[in-house]
Amino acid sequence: MSCFICVTCGVQFAPGDAEPDHCPVCEDGRQYVGWDGQRWTTLEAMRRDHANRLEELEPGLTGIGTEPSFAIGQRALLVQTPEGNVLWDCITLLDEATVAAVRRLGGIVAIAISHPHYYSSMVEWSREFGAPIHLHEADRRWVMRPDPAVRFFSGDELALPGGLRLLRLGGHFPGATVLHWPAGAGGRGALLSGDTIQVVFDRRWVSFMYSFPNLVPLPAHVVERMVRRVADLRFDRIYGAWWGRVVDRDGEETVRRSARRYLAALDFEGDELEL
Ligand SMILES: [Zn+2]
Ligand SMILES: [Zn+2]
Repeated sequence: MSCFICVTCGVQFAPGDAEPDHCPVCEDGRQYVGWDGQRWTTLEAMRRDHANRLEELEPGLTGIGTEPSFAIGQRALLVQTPEGNVLWDCITLLDEATVAAVRRLGGIVAIAISHPHYYSSMVEWSREFGAPIHLHEADRRWVMRPDPAVRFFSGDELALPGGLRLLRLGGHFPGATVLHWPAGAGGRGALLSGDTIQVVFDRRWVSFMYSFPNLVPLPAHVVERMVRRVADLRFDRIYGAWWGRVVDRDGEETVRRSARRYLAALDFEGDELEL
């Protein structure tokens, strides 16, 4: 029995004797099946030609990403708090070197994942560190490897150790979340946003999408609701889902300004596009 991993989205499936028939995560309109067709790997195979890099991004925050880049290429974030470490988002590769490095940082007491594209091999991480996995119940159908460690929450907020708040914004997925870290950015607050709120290449801006690879936007009322749900949070910095995708300061205003730009574009405001 092996737990096969989809090469395109990096999600690990429940144990089986043979490769799964298909990957529902990639067949969904928010993702895509790889151009060479559906392909599978395993953790054992990945450990032969991939490794993880850990990097402290600021005091109390460490990024963990795989090299060479695998599947969607996100990096996880380990938030250290006085009540234990929380792993925000997850990556597929877990190996001995990573386990040792994370243990040196104090291990993991809870895992929270923004949305199904990053469910990756969350069960492996959970078992290794004895940490529960917190997911929103609206995305229950996207769990490809069910496990008793997965705890679905309902409603719009879940309190996590160390004063962290897991907030459901919806948008990219009905259960899409962000993590608020009040102690981040030197006490000015940080928002760990996955791609629920996407830090774009011009890092003075963020965006909101139903599908990023397929460039499908979200309707105005959904974006307005997402922005309302972070309106009472204090945060200066925003950590997106990839290395370097960080809004360094003015996070709150960046979200508001970016939403205004987005809504204006949906309404074709202004004459810049007229022919
Ligand atoms: Zn997939
Ligand atoms: Zn995604």
